[in-house]
Amino acid sequence: MNDLAHRPYIVGLTGGIGSGKSAATEHFAALGASVVDTDHIAHALTAPRGAAIDAIRNSFGDVMIAADGSLDRAAMRARAFSQPDARRQLEAILHPMIRDESARQCRAAGGPYVILAVPLLVESGSYRQRCDRICVVDCPEALQIERVSRRSGLDEAQVRAIMATQASRQQRLAVADDVIDNGGSLAALQAQVDRLHAAYLAAARAR
Ligand code: ADP
Repeated sequence: MNDLAHRPYIVGLTGGIGSGKSAATEHFAALGASVVDTDHIAHALTAPRGAAIDAIRNSFGDVMIAADGSLDRAAMRARAFSQPDARRQLEAILHPMIRDESARQCRAAGGPYVILAVPLLVESGSYRQRCDRICVVDCPEALQIERVSRRSGLDEAQVRAIMATQASRQQRLAVADDVIDNGGSLAALQAQVDRLHAAYLAAARAR
């Protein structure tokens, strides 16, 4: 049995916070691509009755579980702030589960190819290895800050603090096979996604 026959063509999609990953991913999905999104998986794992909840309760106690049975994100943020090890401990629970679940979803995907959306793709060797191609959504840092501030109400210093934990724009561009320039309008973003979708369909068929 040829393994490749069961392995879909995978395009890793990444970009800094506020670069437009979700906007690009939504348009790829509307065109018919299968989408596997590690942020969505992390959220599902930590939702009420999520698969990570028991392990989180065992490691951190009931104080980290909200009344509805989900991870208490505010309590976790406060703990991670006072005890840096807590974040690593949470990641040690979540990251292997996210890796397994995203691999399972990629295998099960029915579309012509998979957009594997991973915010920290560049920072993570294991995701990069899975991808046939890497697509980076890029925009100037000032626009990232403006868009995230508008979306979430964070101020510039808070957005910059998050950006400082991520790969730099140059590091991401250095590993990109394709770059979506999201420095313009949403229509301009979608036109680029249209072109890439056609190229990914052709590449997946040619494999
Ligand atoms: P990411 O998923 O990379 O964090 P999003 O796709 O959520 O980024 O985009 C961040 C914010 O900026 C969202 O509110 C989104 O609607 C908005 N946005 C994204 N691209 C554009 C664009 N080209 N023009 C205007 N607003 C945009």
